[in-house]
Amino acid sequence: MAQKKKIGFHMSISGGVFNAIGEALDLGIETFQIFLKNSNRWESPPLKEKDIEKFRSLWKSNANLSIHGHTGYLINFAGEGENLEKSMLLMAQEMNRADALGIPTLVLHPGNHKGAGIDTGIERISENLNRIFSENPGKVKILLETMAGQGTSIGHEFENLAAIIEKSDYKERLGVCLDTCHIFAAGYDFSNEKLYDELIINFDKTVGLKNLELIHLNDSKKQCGSRVDRHEHIGKGEIGERALGFFLRDERLHEVPFIMETPVEEDYGNRENLKVVLEMMGERSPGSGH
Ligand code: FE
Ligand code: FE
Ligand code: ZN
Repeated sequence: MAQKKKIGFHMSISGGVFNAIGEALDLGIETFQIFLKNSNRWESPPLKEKDIEKFRSLWKSNANLSIHGHTGYLINFAGEGENLEKSMLLMAQEMNRADALGIPTLVLHPGNHKGAGIDTGIERISENLNRIFSENPGKVKILLETMAGQGTSIGHEFENLAAIIEKSDYKERLGVCLDTCHIFAAGYDFSNEKLYDELIINFDKTVGLKNLELIHLNDSKKQCGSRVDRHEHIGKGEIGERALGFFLRDERLHEVPFIMETPVEEDYGNRENLKVVLEMMGERSPGSGH
């Protein structure tokens, strides 16, 4: 039988990185994503050696888990000057942590050009990625995420990501993460099967499906083309179950892990979103007992 499709969540690492593995096993998911540092701060205390060991040994005994990292939000590879140097330093720390934990991929928001323009921003991102890879040999791959197009962020058009990869000297260390909420907010309409198919063909022609290593499966609170990034529970937003289902059932994407970054509320969170997704895939919900 073909390998089971991997579905999971962005998970909290409060109390220690290894906690995310325990929670994943508890939920019965096959993949998850974590931040390796505080996502909104320049400084975080170093990972404890015993936490790293605990994480690695837990992962080793659950080796089918596909684990991914997401970099902090302060990193801007389209920036300049002091901010760029701080971004470089932070990214190097993220990469060292990923290597220490054995995490193979780090999702990155490509950058904000802050008025310099998209083309200049793309040039800078590509050059700065060359620099970070040359200074940090390691193993970790960077996955450029598709963006919603808020402010001056780069990556709301597939062509942006294609151009960054095209200009890179380290193509083998780059990949892409497609976020369904972000592309929808950016203006990609996949509300019916024909539009969905055209979207995937367009993605393949620009970025290349071979570069697609991760999907962020999120519904959107805001309309198509709003360029506002607000995640919603699966099936409760503007995208809806029908259109998200196209991704879930697409054989071309079967090998790609799907990570939800859906809200966690007191009475509705990961367990509920997982149930909805498994039902959409035609699988029984966890613990339904038959
Ligand atoms: Fe992201
Ligand atoms: Fe995302
Ligand atoms: Zn988002």
